[in-house]
This record gives sequence, C-alpha cells and structure tokens, in this order.
Amino acid sequence: MELSSPVDALGLTAKKAAALRRAGVETVEDLLYRFPLRYEDARPVDPAVLRADGPAAFYGVVTDMPVLKFFAPGKSRLAVRLDVGGRPVTAVWFNQPYLKARLAPGTAVWVYGPYDVRRRTVVAQRTEIGPARPPDGVVPVYPATEGVRPKEYRALVEAALGRDDLEVPEVLPPAIVRRYRFPDRRAALRLVHLPASPDDVARGKRRLIYEELFLFQLKLALLRGLRRRRATGVAKPVDEGRLRRAIEALPFRLTGAQARALREIVAELRSPEAMYRLLQGDVGSGKTVVAALALYAVVTAGFQGALMVPTEVLAMQHARTLRKLLPLDAELALLTGRTPPAARERILERLRDGRLDVVVGTHALIQEDIAFRRLGLAVVDEQHRFGVAERRMLLEKGEGTDILLMTATPIPRTLALAYFGDLDVSTIDELPKGRGEVETLWTTPARFGAVLDFMRRELQAGRQAYVIAPLIEASEKVDFENALALYERLRTALSEFRVGLLHGRLPGKEKDAVMQAFVRGELDVLVATTVVEVGVDVPNATVMVIVDAERFGLSQLHQLRGRVGRGAAKSTCILVSDARTEIARERLRTLVETRDGFLLAEKDLELRGPGDLFGVRQSGLPEFRLADLTSPYDRTVLAYAHRDARAVADALLEARSAGRPPAYEGEPLPAALLRLADDVLRRPVALD
Ligand code: ADP
Ligand code: MG
Repeated sequence: MELSSPVDALGLTAKKAAALRRAGVETVEDLLYRFPLRYEDARPVDPAVLRADGPAAFYGVVTDMPVLKFFAPGKSRLAVRLDVGGRPVTAVWFNQPYLKARLAPGTAVWVYGPYDVRRRTVVAQRTEIGPARPPDGVVPVYPATEGVRPKEYRALVEAALGRDDLEVPEVLPPAIVRRYRFPDRRAALRLVHLPASPDDVARGKRRLIYEELFLFQLKLALLRGLRRRRATGVAKPVDEGRLRRAIEALPFRLTGAQARALREIVAELRSPEAMYRLLQGDVGSGKTVVAALALYAVVTAGFQGALMVPTEVLAMQHARTLRKLLPLDAELALLTGRTPPAARERILERLRDGRLDVVVGTHALIQEDIAFRRLGLAVVDEQHRFGVAERRMLLEKGEGTDILLMTATPIPRTLALAYFGDLDVSTIDELPKGRGEVETLWTTPARFGAVLDFMRRELQAGRQAYVIAPLIEASEKVDFENALALYERLRTALSEFRVGLLHGRLPGKEKDAVMQAFVRGELDVLVATTVVEVGVDVPNATVMVIVDAERFGLSQLHQLRGRVGRGAAKSTCILVSDARTEIARERLRTLVETRDGFLLAEKDLELRGPGDLFGVRQSGLPEFRLADLTSPYDRTVLAYAHRDARAVADALLEARSAGRPPAYEGEPLPAALLRLADDVLRRPVALD
C-alpha cells in the first residue's frame, strides 16, 4: 500500500469512503495528513491529587446501581458511582439513557471530561465501557467528518499506520533529517497520530511543520531558480563612480538600511541573472530614494529605467522627487494618461531612440505603442495595485529587464518569506534621523470638539490636516455618506479654512485634482475615505485625524499615520474611537505605543491572523495543515525552511542543467522529493 492508494484500500464500506471523499480525504495520504485538532490526555488520574477543576480522565469500577432521571422529554441525566483506586467519583452522562443497562455494578469504566473537585463529579464527554486496561497516552481529537465518527476515523488512521506494507517514502533530504534530528516521515506520522505522551506529539509536529513549510518554500525556490536561470538575464555594468557621486550629491545621507538595500540591488543588476526583487520598508523609510538610485544605476550602465505607479498624483510626485534627487545627466520624463498627444509623441520617440533615460508614469507606460531602446530596470511602486499581466507587460518592453517591486506596507521578514518566498527581498528597517516626531493620541467621539480646537490652532499656524472618514465594510455608499457628513461638519466648524473632500466615487480626474490641490497647499483640510493615496508626501501636513479608528486594521492605521511627520515639524495623529472590545482597544493602544511598522505588522498578525494582514498579494497564503504563521515558533521554522529550500532548489537546478543526478550535501535527493520538484518544474505557475 502506498500513500497515494485510495482510502478504500483500508477496507471501508462504500458509504464511509464516500463520506471521507466529501471531506476531501481520497487517499491514504489525505487521511494521514489530516491532523488532530487537539489531544486529550487519556491517562487516568488519581482524584486525590486533583486540586483544580478541569478536564481529566478516570478509570474505575461501578459500585452502585446507576441512577437515571428524566427532567424533560428527551433530556436525561445518568449518574454512576465509581471506585477509582479506592476513592469515590461520580460520573454523569447527559441524554444517554441507554448507557444505563451497560453500567451494572462491577463494570470497568474509563471516562473523560470536565471534573468538579468539590462535588467529585466528572461529566463524561468520552466513555469506554469494560476495557481491561485504561487507554494509555494521549488521544487525538480529529476534525468532525460528516458520516464518519471520530472513533472510526481514529481506527482508520491506526489501521493505515499499522500496516507493514504501507510505504511512506522520505521526502526530506537525509542531511536535513540529520541536521535537525528529525524522526523519519513514517515515525513522525505515528508520533502525531498515535502518541504515548504530549512529548511525542511535539516531536512529531516539529518535523511535520518543517516538512510542510519546506515543501512550500521549495516550490517557491524552484520558481525563483527557474526565473533566474532563464536565458534572459543581462548583466548591467553599473558605473560605481557615477553612482557614488550621485549618492554624495543627495541633500541627506542614506541610512544604513537604505545603503544596504541599494548594495543588494546593484549587485544583482551587475550579475547576469534576472533580478526579481521586492523592496520593502517602513512608512517613511525612504524607499523612493533607493528606487531612484537603482534607476540611475542602470542609466550609468547604458540602460533605461521605468517607474510605474498606480495613480497620476503619485506619478507626478515621483517625477518631481526624481528630478530633485538625480543628477542632471539623467534625462527624465513623466508619462500619464493626461500627457498631451504631441508631448507623448516626443516622449515615445525619445524612449525609442534612447535619448530618454528614465520614464515615470502610470498605466500609460504599458500601452502597446511604447517601446524602449534598452529597458534595464522596471520599478513598480505599490505593486499590489497592479495585476500580474500589467507587471509582465512592462517587463516585456525590454530584454533582460530587471524588476524591482515596492510595497508600502512593512511585512515582518519571516512573513515576507511566506508571501514572497519566490522573490528576493530587501528590507529597509530604519527611519532617517531628524524626522519630525509623530505623537499618537486616542480620544473618544464625545471629545471631537477638542480635536477641532486643536486642528484650528495648527491650521492657523499654516499647517495642513487630513481627516479620515470611517470605513464601513462592504458598503461604498455608506462610506460615501459618512465622508460627506463629516465633510459638511468640518466645513461648518472650520469655516475660515479651505476644506476639500476626496472619496472613492469621484472620477479619477477629480480625485487627482483634489489631491493635487492639497499637495499644492490650496486646501487646508482634506477629508477623505481611505482612497487617500498611501504614497503621498505632503511635508506641511502635521495633523492626521482618523474617525472610528477601530474599523481599520493596524497596518492601515500605521500607513495613514505615515502621511504626517514627513517634515521637520512635530506632527500629531489623533485616533477617534469608542472601541469597546478588548481586542480593538488593544490594537489602538499598540498603535499609540509603537511607531515601528514591523512590530505593528507582527502584532496585527497575532491579533487578526495572516489572511487579514495586507492586501499584499491577492492570492494570499496557502492554507497550511499544521503550520500556523501567527505562531512565532512556526515563523522561525519558516526562516530555516526557506534557507534550506533555496539551497536544495539551487543544487537541484544546477545538477539538472549539468546533467548530473541531483544531490544535496553529497547525498542523492529522495525520489519523492524529485517527483514533487518535477511537478513544479513541468508546470511553473508563476506566483507573481
Ligand atoms: P517611503 O518609504 O514611505 O516611500 P519616501 O521615499 O517617500 O518614504 O521618503 C520619505 C521622506 O524622507 C522623503 O521626503 C525623502 O526625501 C526623505 N528621506 C529619504 N531618505 C532620507 C534620508 N536618508 N535622510 C533624510 N531624509 C530622507
Ligand atoms: Mg513611497
């Protein structure tokens, strides 16, 4: 029997087999990789040592006649006195009157359930009547399966693992099994399904969690390896001298983290392998500068660069930033949907003949008639707002084009591996010094008057303010009405100032116009739904008010807060919320206390789980069967699995292209692993 054999081979009725299939269990492997939800410690205890109420197991003998009482139709209570090692314990069953006949005095009984110390009573959740010995060890509790009772499921698992002819081929490279002192695969499955102690469960899980994360990372690593080995990479001979002079001419010094990220990027630009890298960093950590320098680096190598951003406002802002930061020898243009036709024609021509070095733009960059002479680097800002096809269209405008994706939301490094294991990741985890401080305050809606007073003082001093309207999930209409009501209120309360409204229902052009007016200082207050650009940089804005803050995710609040504190002046972020649930209050407290986006992201992960974390990658994470990325331990395992998987994938791809049998650390890779790898390599579904 093999793992791929159908469960029917275990000798089930057709009905049971069908029920299992409905639960997604078709093969023996499915059966064995459906893990217990939890375990019950079935080892009977001596009631004399129990001090606290809680679940416990007892093994004893019935001493008196059972007492059955009906207290309503169909509602009954059956009580039996047991002698447990010389001490009396009462066991109680609800609504199982038929057990009475089987519980005659002298019968051996094992029961498990919540125990009340004072009353010496256990309410039986699980029962075995007449066992010669009490069950020993830890009993797994499986997820409910319609049509298959837990006991039957357990029996099937036991039957499968008990068969001598069941083959459980090893998938992990032997060097890895030895390195971490893992049990082999079959042993690990036995430990998890048929444990003798909680310690067994832990040992088995340790390996199976690693196995799951390793195999997941191996797929990503193979995809990455394939992409890098495709013949399309082109080495760009970056002129380090010119690049260094550009860095020295910046109005500030790069932070250590910025310099490191840039080094990683430049090293890859110079290598013949195709770059596919994610640049991530905390809000305000200066990603744009790094991207600008990377673009300049390919220019010094004789290539062109493109920076694609999701909106007109951002495109204009980035073009301005690049003009300010880059040396004058880099020819730069802005191309958006609103570039006049004649100007567009000129830009296209200069892109084709190579006179233009860098182009910044929106989707306008991927129009069909746009061609580059030699596109060396494509940077995509807020990459999650573009589809796979759009990113690919930009890439296909060049040959050997490297790609740099940017994301505005910081992701803890270990989690980034899970989301982006097929990419390389550069992380900027340090903020520039001399940043204006941002104080975060939390107040209630009842005190909104005081918030308005505060705003008035800041506005009078010439500052600008954002006010974010509450977010109502799944209803753009309500969102809009909320924003509108807030806007009217502020217009009245702050009538001496210019207040603008930005919401999702405005046509793109008007959205840009409102945003642009705020950027230029023609509006003092911007009331906005979350459509407010996460990337906008308005250093004069010093106040961020977020109404009904509890409705936003931590990362989102952090992003919004990141819109202020961009100049040297002190800024304030005011969370307005009467959050009542403890978890909501905890999140707001966390935000008040920390400015570190990476820490916040971890916290968000722990409070809300990974599914909710960011809209980073639409496909999201796979559903792991055992691994739980909200657990710091599992995330550490992920980091190891990631590193090992890359080494194994590289060894495998290397051997294949050299026509050698794949080996890792001098030993052949297991056949089961090679089969999995072949599956990926045959159908390399890109995850980008
Ligand atoms: P983000 O990572 O949020 O995109 P930006 O690239 O927009 O951050 O940078 C935020 C602000 O910090 C910009 O005004 C930028 O000019 C400035 N900045 C970037 N790097 C540094 C630095 N090393 N020292 C001082 N200011 C910097
Ligand atoms: Mg940015």
